[in-house]
Amino acid sequence: MAYNKVSEEIIRKIRNVVGGSVVIEKSELEPYSHDETENLKFYPEIVVKSASTNDVSQVMKIANDNLIPVTPRGGGTGLSGGAIPVLGGVVLSLERMNHILEIDKENLVAVVEAGVILEHLQNEVAKEGLFFPIDMGSKGSAMIGGNIASCAGGTRAVKYGVMKDLCLGTEAVLANGEIIKTGGKLLKNVTGYNLTQLLVGSEGTLAIITKAIVRLVPLPLYRRTLLAPFDNIKSLTECALSFFSRGGVFPRAIEFMSQPSILAVEKYKNINVPYNDKKGLLLIDLDGNDELSLDREVEKIGEICLSKGAPDVLVASSEKQKFLWEVRHQVAEAVKSLSVYKEEDIALPRSKICEFVEYIDKFCEDNKIWGIYYGHLGDGNLHLNILKGDMPDKRWEKELPHIIGEIFKKVVSLGGTISGEHGIGLMQKRYLPIAIGKVEMELMRSIKRCWDPNNILNPDKIFPAY
Ligand SMILES: Cc1cc2nc3c(=O)[nH]c(=O)nc-3n(C[C@H](O)[C@H](O)[C@H](O)COP(=O)(O)OP(=O)(O)OC[C@H]3O[C@@H](n4cnc5c(N)ncnc54)[C@H](O)[C@@H]3O)c2cc1C
Repeated sequence: MAYNKVSEEIIRKIRNVVGGSVVIEKSELEPYSHDETENLKFYPEIVVKSASTNDVSQVMKIANDNLIPVTPRGGGTGLSGGAIPVLGGVVLSLERMNHILEIDKENLVAVVEAGVILEHLQNEVAKEGLFFPIDMGSKGSAMIGGNIASCAGGTRAVKYGVMKDLCLGTEAVLANGEIIKTGGKLLKNVTGYNLTQLLVGSEGTLAIITKAIVRLVPLPLYRRTLLAPFDNIKSLTECALSFFSRGGVFPRAIEFMSQPSILAVEKYKNINVPYNDKKGLLLIDLDGNDELSLDREVEKIGEICLSKGAPDVLVASSEKQKFLWEVRHQVAEAVKSLSVYKEEDIALPRSKICEFVEYIDKFCEDNKIWGIYYGHLGDGNLHLNILKGDMPDKRWEKELPHIIGEIFKKVVSLGGTISGEHGIGLMQKRYLPIAIGKVEMELMRSIKRCWDPNNILNPDKIFPAY
């Protein structure tokens, strides 16, 4: 597809219709040229900071009529290059659309503009005794529109689900500027195709989300955190599985940190983490409204951990709780600080995690690769970082795609998939055919063509070239 450049004439047209601000100075474009994906930078020609859905609609009409690529952008915390304007054109930033429009206590929903920062929403609903459960290290910058477009997951998905479970409706702008509304303040809705769910995880390729209706739950009154060390990963993963089957307890988070990831945090933050001599740690969070029964659940989890081989279990004080979760949230950055890296975000049926971990340990050893993994064990979502270390540049550049492809084939053979929460974006699209069959891929491409016939919305993302 041959796109047009953003001419003076187009800038003038955009300025005429947009109530928000417009940026064209190169120095001010820089923050919009990258996200949190390592070493990727492409400058947009113009950034539009829309102030309303109408702004977005007007800009899309101009872009569609003039064949200009448009990349929607939230907080720019994505890890797959999704918000990077690889083909230039317009970056449409939702940062100014940052209002919480309604906290509806009767229907347990919030209606928000797409640029509301996740942590801000959490803080505001907490004042009303409510809880928006998505939790992740980037919550201080990531925005609800970006969370929906990437189907954010995070640490509490095991109990509360991911963004697809929490997004009930949207207002969105199509590539041709038309405004649509999907879903509503409804838990049940079987009226036609579920367009809300089609937008969740669509990575800015189908429409620009301008507002959302998200589900809230009552804020749990009590919370407990446990840390259980293990001498081998097999026992650790088996232990995590048995919380559900043996314990009848439903933790809100079951996180896994391998020893190398712990050592990385210690080095990165200059701190000591308990049980750093063990092969892996399970960080378990429980919540509830009845303190006595919560403490009984803590006991049950502790007993299971001990019976599955943990030499000890730490029940954290509130100060320690904060420390342990800070450690968990630092793992990604700490591991990445060790070396040039490529981060993978695989998802597996929980029951297959143990088999995968055994496979990846052997694979890394056989192929002389430095791999560090950790992640959301309760959701079957592991982050695997392949680190370059002292691998020669030539091998890194030439062999890495093949190495990753082999790992992904194994993941798929175990019933898993190649991205659990970071999305395909730019970084993973070459691998998509490993996870998606030909017929399904063609269906997806035809959905894209139907929503965006001129392919102006976040082009060059998700789909590999034919
Ligand atoms: C330290 C750290 C920890 C993280 N931990 C987690 C984690 O635990 N779980 C997890 O899921 N992710 C995690 N992430 C990844 C990232 O924070 C999420 O993908 C987040 O949901 C992205 O939100 P954002 O607003 O920054 O989106 P952006 O990066 O701005 O955009 C992401 C994608 O969504 C599209 N998009 C953005 N806004 C809109 C919109 N309004 N309409 C349509 N499309 C839009 C963009 O075009 C892009 O394709 C982490 C990232 C970092 C840096």
